[in-house]
Amino acid sequence: MITRNYPDAIYCCPYCKTKTSNSVIEFDEINKPKKFSKRVFYKLICMTCNNSYFLYEDIKQKHLLKDKDIPSVNKVLNSQWGVDNQRIIYPQQIYTTQVPAPSKYMPEDVKKMYKEAANVFEISPRSSAALIRLTLELLLKRYLVNDGRKHTLNEMIGMLSPNTPSLVMEFMDLIRDKGNSEVHPELEKLEHEWGDITREPDKDEILYLFKYINFVCGLVGLRNKANKDFESLPEQKRKDITKRNQKYQD
Ligand SMILES: [Zn+2]
Repeated sequence: MITRNYPDAIYCCPYCKTKTSNSVIEFDEINKPKKFSKRVFYKLICMTCNNSYFLYEDIKQKHLLKDKDIPSVNKVLNSQWGVDNQRIIYPQQIYTTQVPAPSKYMPEDVKKMYKEAANVFEISPRSSAALIRLTLELLLKRYLVNDGRKHTLNEMIGMLSPNTPSLVMEFMDLIRDKGNSEVHPELEKLEHEWGDITREPDKDEILYLFKYINFVCGLVGLRNKANKDFESLPEQKRKDITKRNQKYQD
């Protein structure tokens, strides 16, 4: 690893949000440098608030660049090279990205896993999709099925189907399916469509998984609350409601 110090780099600090001078330490990834591209890590220390943060740059030979306008932290970068991608990796700014905050009906341990999924969303949307699937699994196992036995996610969703609104079922199946396909692409695809498994994951699609699980928690939470509230209505009122409904059945 090579470290270099730069005296001055003007960047917007993610802590104090000031555009200010930073001192920089560069870490070159490299044991065996690649010929056409490399990833370089930088630690920046904000001169205004003194906090440090980390970012990386994918550096490529100029003729391979997609975006030619990103200035490198390294002001003395060799003129044949340029920055293809630059990203802050620490601190992770979970809720400043598009990931929604967890539903208030989400149990605490489930919420913890949801946040883990949110944490990795920017660096690895694919892991994030897999973690949301696990989050759903935990929700079902501990709170919705909760019979002390072992079931697959697929089975647990099926077990809920008699008493669960179809929209909730659809959301759960979408999370199951999408989370799975991000981790275990089908074998045929592995063999015949390399393009498909090495494709960039669709971040917008994965963001929907966060929305779906929030919605599942919201609907289930609201349903439980409504059931409880309904139970506490005076008996006569409940009878009247049942009577009214019977009138419209058949
Ligand atoms: Zn700062």
